[in-house]
Amino acid sequence: MCVSVENCALKALQLTKPGQLDLIEAPPPSLPAGHLLVRTAVAVICTSDLADIRENPFGIRLPQIIGHEGAGVVEAAGDGVKDFAPGDRIAAHPVHPCRQCPECRSGVGHLCRNMWHLGINMSGTFAEFFVVRADRARKVGDMPLGLAALAEPVCVCLEALAQARLAAGGRLLIIGDGPFGAMLANLAPEFKPAEVVIAGHHDFRMGFAPPATTKVNLKTAGADALKKLAGPLGFDAAILAVGSAKAVATCIELLRPKGRLVIFSAIPGLSSVDLFRVHVRELELIGACNDQERFDEALSHLRQPAGRDLGRLITHGLPLEQYRQAIELADRGRETAMKVAFELKAGELPR
Ligand SMILES: [Zn+2]
Ligand SMILES: [Zn+2]
Repeated sequence: MCVSVENCALKALQLTKPGQLDLIEAPPPSLPAGHLLVRTAVAVICTSDLADIRENPFGIRLPQIIGHEGAGVVEAAGDGVKDFAPGDRIAAHPVHPCRQCPECRSGVGHLCRNMWHLGINMSGTFAEFFVVRADRARKVGDMPLGLAALAEPVCVCLEALAQARLAAGGRLLIIGDGPFGAMLANLAPEFKPAEVVIAGHHDFRMGFAPPATTKVNLKTAGADALKKLAGPLGFDAAILAVGSAKAVATCIELLRPKGRLVIFSAIPGLSSVDLFRVHVRELELIGACNDQERFDEALSHLRQPAGRDLGRLITHGLPLEQYRQAIELADRGRETAMKVAFELKAGELPR
């Protein structure tokens, strides 16, 4: 471990090229004005990191220290930073809008055309230290930093639910039982739906959805199981939480007239979609990628009992040095693992 950052080589995970992740010793990061140098406590592996490591679909500038979910302790504050001091425990948001481009000026900074993003074109969180712009950090007090590291995934799930425009008494289908599917199922009750159905392939993973969620294992349930649950009218909304074109077709078939499908998981390239059905049933297809300023909402959620309970989703904490096992668990441990964290500071995982 580094005691004094100036004189240290920092351990970090670098994506050198698709398929090649290396544990490197990086020079200490420089600290620009308005930014914070953060000693990483917990960094969490996201489903998108796994895709990045395999094939870099988002065009990460390589070589790059990856990772975008993380929380830690402020080591130093850059010039001009007023609201943070060394020792502050913070959550970090990976998206850094430029605040100047047409998107930023029109209120959709989360879709900024000049965006800086941890782990894509800025050094990421899979390192002993990372740098975040001060306006993209929040103090979290005594919240376990492992829980604080879930702030951004909670942000994007809240965005997906907002895009689904689920009304009280509505019926929601979540297709995909990975960490995002489970998180969505845990956040959905806030919108007072009549029913939430989660469909996936792993009983272990669907076990992380709340007891009131209807769980459908597509491996063992009959082909018509989801159709029966959709009922004669269909679901009000569906959220795609798995990168599968087949799942898109399933959702489109099961939505009620005027229903909405939120494209939350990424499916790179062209997909074929039954646009005739979209036309005749007046369906809506809506994207959800980043979140529109939901950082504070996500953190206040994580302070509530239901939000604190999301800490259960982190099933494993490993040191950076065991990155191969960590990636393997996150990628393939579908009957044993959910979110896998790099635990750089002991005692911060929410257990
Ligand atoms: Zn993520
Ligand atoms: Zn911008």
